[in-house]
Parts: sequence; structure tokens; C-alpha cells
Amino acid sequence: MKLFSDYHSHPQGHRIQPYSQNLLQPWVDHARKNGLTDIAFTDHDRYHEGIDFDEIEKLRRANPDIKIRAGIELDNDPVRSIAGRRWVEKNWDRLDFVLGSVHFLERPDQMFDSVPAGAEQFAGRNIDEIYSDYFHRVREVAATGLVDCLSHLDLVKIHGHRPKTKIETLIGGTLDLIAERGLCVELSTAGWRKPVNELYPSDEIIHLAIAKGLRFTTASDAHSHLQLGENYDRLAEKMTRFGIRQVCVFEKHEAQLGAV
Ligand SMILES: [Zn+2]
Ligand SMILES: [Zn+2]
Repeated sequence: MKLFSDYHSHPQGHRIQPYSQNLLQPWVDHARKNGLTDIAFTDHDRYHEGIDFDEIEKLRRANPDIKIRAGIELDNDPVRSIAGRRWVEKNWDRLDFVLGSVHFLERPDQMFDSVPAGAEQFAGRNIDEIYSDYFHRVREVAATGLVDCLSHLDLVKIHGHRPKTKIETLIGGTLDLIAERGLCVELSTAGWRKPVNELYPSDEIIHLAIAKGLRFTTASDAHSHLQLGENYDRLAEKMTRFGIRQVCVFEKHEAQLGAV
């Protein structure tokens, strides 16, 4: 199996750094070095001001051997994602791919997946309730009509908290909605570098997703070009065990299955 695509990357990292050839070319170089031929830039929507479609176009012309997709990660930031959504709507036709994410639970001032600070939000709480609330928010994102794929679908496990209720009970309706909407699910190696040390999503969820006929993208959630394609050998092994032989790639929101 040869994985060839990485559909979750953050060239700007965690601040606005306007797109330029200097910023983006190292990402393409690293992709090429690692045998990736199809990558999507998916910066956080709160940094949408840095995204420049003309710079992406220039990069494509300079690197015709790599497919470079214009994307964004739209999340549920109660404050900043209002502008993010508007930007996605406005630029929908120029975007190839939109990831939908939940980074916020009850607290509007802190991403629950901040490590380690976000773990505070779980302390002394009913974990099952947090999981239910999290998946409710995932369904809201999936239902916006503005996303093509759900990223790190079980991010709520990031700090290692596990529910007592069966995960199938907690996530079943969410997977149904994803299927109904024809959205993809991301297989993200980022979970392996977080406290939970487990792929997003878990094996159990992958089983359920396969049973519902869902399709997958492969991703690293790279915040540095050096993380592109990180742990892909390990991911390929897992996909082989699951019999996943195709991944989704996107052009102008149109999904296409590619063999791996
Ligand atoms: Zn994210
Ligand atoms: Zn991300």
C-alpha cells in the first residue's frame, strides 16, 4: 500500500502568515520527498486572511507534478468562525476542500484540545456527557453544508478521557448524518503525537464507518512541513488490516477515490 495524499496541513501554523512562495514551497518539497503527490492546505479559518489563491496558483504552476488543493479547516469557534463561515461561503468556488472540526465545547475562550491546558475542561466532569455534547457539535458542523470532510472525528479523546457508554451509542447518529450528507471521514495520524497516542478516529469508529459505507481521507494535521505524511507507514499498516484500499481526494469539492 502506498499512501499518496495528505489532506490536513497548516502552512500558517498558529498565526497569520500571508501565503507566499517562500512559505509554501517547503511544504511541496517535503511532500515530494516523502512520495506524496496530492496535498491540501487547510489553515484554520481564523487565519483566513493569510490565504491567497493567486499564490496557490503560482505554486501549482511551479510544481506541476504535485496536486495542490486549496482548502481550509472550518471549526466551531463561537466568535471567530462567524467570519470564517462567511469567508468559506464567499470563496466556495475557489476552494477544493473544506474540513469541518470541533475545537470548542462549553468554554468559548479555550480550545479543549489545547495540550495540556484543555484537559481542565474535563476535570471532575461527566465524561459521557462531554462526549454527547461533542458529537452534537460535530453534527452541527456536518449540517452546515459548508464542509466536505470531518477532521479528527473523535478529538474529544485527546487527553485520554474515555466514556462509559459504548462509542457506537454515542457516535452512531453522527456517522449516519455524515453518510446522509455524503461527507468523508479523515484518518489522522496527529492522534499519535497527542497524549491519547491513538489514531483519529479509533479502530472501533473505523469499523462502524466502514459498515456505513463511509469514505476516508488520509492526513497528518501538519503544523510544520516536516510533519507532512508523518507516521504514514503505521497508518498504511492499519488501513491494510481494515481492508481500506481507496482514499478520497478532492477537486472543487468533488470527491474522487484513488487506489492506495
Ligand atoms: Zn483541528
Ligand atoms: Zn488542523
